[in-house]
Amino acid sequence: MKKQVLVSGGAGYIGSHVTVELIEAGYDVIVADNMSNCDLTCFEGVKKITGRTDLPFIKMDFCDKAAVDQLFTDYKIDAVIHFAAFKAVGESVAEPLKYYSNNLISFMNVLDAARTHGGCNVLFSSSATVYGEAEVLPVTEQTPRLPSTSPYGNTKQMCEDILRDSVKAYEGIHGIALRYFNPIGAHPSALIGELPRGVPNNLVPFITQTAIGKRECLSIFGKDYPTEDGTCLRDYIDIVDLAKAHVAAVSRMVNGKMEKEYEIFNVGTGRPVSVYELVTKFEKVNNLKLNYKFVDRRPGDVMAIWADTKLANEKLGWKAERTVEETLAAAWAWEKHLAENR
Ligand code: UDP
Repeated sequence: MKKQVLVSGGAGYIGSHVTVELIEAGYDVIVADNMSNCDLTCFEGVKKITGRTDLPFIKMDFCDKAAVDQLFTDYKIDAVIHFAAFKAVGESVAEPLKYYSNNLISFMNVLDAARTHGGCNVLFSSSATVYGEAEVLPVTEQTPRLPSTSPYGNTKQMCEDILRDSVKAYEGIHGIALRYFNPIGAHPSALIGELPRGVPNNLVPFITQTAIGKRECLSIFGKDYPTEDGTCLRDYIDIVDLAKAHVAAVSRMVNGKMEKEYEIFNVGTGRPVSVYELVTKFEKVNNLKLNYKFVDRRPGDVMAIWADTKLANEKLGWKAERTVEETLAAAWAWEKHLAENR
């Protein structure tokens, strides 16, 4: 019998790519989302890519404890991947309570339902933000977490801890936290991708929206960092590669391959790329000129972070495969697809 995976926040950017890869790997998927930060574009795209017109979709809020419990009653869930969360760093500083209540309560509801329904494998979508400005690079999973500079980052650390403590206390719950570096790009079909609401906070959607003419000019935040070209270094991970890491982590859990009941993996490429390099690569691979200017540093940005990926490579048998160029071409194809279809 096929294993069933519940994907909370499954209609969003990462959730939709993960759903595609899970289905292609032979899992049954239940997509659940409250649609607070997305529309049905990506869910429809997932159905098209996979041919699964009957893919279950449940519109629900994971802060609704009874609804989460009902879901675990209605379906036999072998694993849950929890994406449902708010993710805007700036907004979290302005509205901390909104972030703490949504991100923590929804996750605790999932864990409580998992506990009361006889246990479950739980994959939490964490972030490299937990490392802050690390002293030693690249960061390994042993690199100490640093106090977060935003409520958003705090919720990632807190949810990791809640998962760690829950697997220890409750029999039958196993957990993996995946710490994402900078997910970018889109599915090669250009049927799903990132759909930011309003002005994008993240670099790549800002680049593609500038290239298509939706934004006038990209601001590159800071050119006086002590890096080779003066701009920040990040580890940009292709969204499909990232999605495949989830499939590897789920199969490790459902096949009883975990070495501890709670494990953490970095999900990155291990390759630092500067903001300026990314911009010039985008121009080159897509054969266009981007309007950009250098402006002051953005408060809260770390200068450099990239992943040591050895643990994920060895234990998950997973490795990032796509080149930055391929990823940037896919991001641009998605932006053009949106322009032609909206
Ligand atoms: N960045 C930029 N201009 C933008 C958005 C981002 O120069 O409009 C830079 C940002 O300062 C950082 C990098 O791009 O160095 C990645 O930022 P993003 O917000 O995408 O992810 P973060 O690393 O902050 O999670």
